[in-house]
Amino acid sequence: MERNYKLKMKPILFLNPVFKQSIWGGRQLKVKFGYDIPGDNTGECWAVSAHPNGDCTVKEGIYEGVFLSELWEKHPELFGNPCTDRFPLLVKIIDAKEDLSIQVHPDDAYAREHENGSLGKTECWYILDGPEDAALVVGHNAGSKEELSDMIHQGRWIELIREIPVKKGDFIQINPGTVHAIKGGLMILETQQNSDITYRVYDYDRLTDGKPRALHVQQSIDVITVPAASADKSVKDARQLPKNKMNELISCDYYTVWKLEVEGSLSFEQSYPFLIMSVIEGEGSINGRALQKGDHFILPDGFGNVELQGKIQLIASCAK
Ligand code: ZN
Repeated sequence: MERNYKLKMKPILFLNPVFKQSIWGGRQLKVKFGYDIPGDNTGECWAVSAHPNGDCTVKEGIYEGVFLSELWEKHPELFGNPCTDRFPLLVKIIDAKEDLSIQVHPDDAYAREHENGSLGKTECWYILDGPEDAALVVGHNAGSKEELSDMIHQGRWIELIREIPVKKGDFIQINPGTVHAIKGGLMILETQQNSDITYRVYDYDRLTDGKPRALHVQQSIDVITVPAASADKSVKDARQLPKNKMNELISCDYYTVWKLEVEGSLSFEQSYPFLIMSVIEGEGSINGRALQKGDHFILPDGFGNVELQGKIQLIASCAK
């Protein structure tokens, strides 16, 4: 009887994040999210990841200690028996104390050909926190590939780079080919394709261990979309959305992302192959298990009824 019960009830997969140090990182992942960070330059919390550079383990329950990559391989039934060879998404929280380098990602076709069969990278950002005058680099001002190439080779960064103002609660989709950079002072929740392929266009001439980090000038010029999409199309205000409802922020070829603000209680049926959820504000519970800011978990295939309670904000995502 007990065995039968276990087979039927799939567990909520709470995950242990993996932290990354970087020259631009800070301490906000501890200050704002209470994480036990490894140092004063912690830039990233890989919260839901099965990437070889940061593979999360399950925090509790029957799969405690198991890597997410291993679960994907050995227990496909938890993810709706997928036909892809790797966990498709990666969810991170980024603490940018300093500006990140200005970069661009390739699409699947370019990455397959030039990066050893790797996936390209589409990503999106939900702004968790930031100063009054916060800004992001999204897009550029070159009118043609030739002008783009000239501006990059001649170091005309101020002319080239387009900065747009953002505030807490804004949401931005970054398609492959979009020049982008997170500016100092921002905390961001990023949902992305499971890929690490980044071409660095410009790094503010900074040094790491006495040396500049490598730039990828030719690849960047190859993949940057010209002209860039318009600025007002790039940012979506996700602050005042209806409560107790899954509000879709984006649906693209790789993922759907929602924001969910629970006040009181909300129940729904988990009907996706799997659903990722991150608690970004407040506290409450899920099916009786306590939830707090900074928790990240996966609701597996066939999980059934989900009962959320409390005063909490979540970002949810599923793969396509
Ligand atoms: Zn990026």
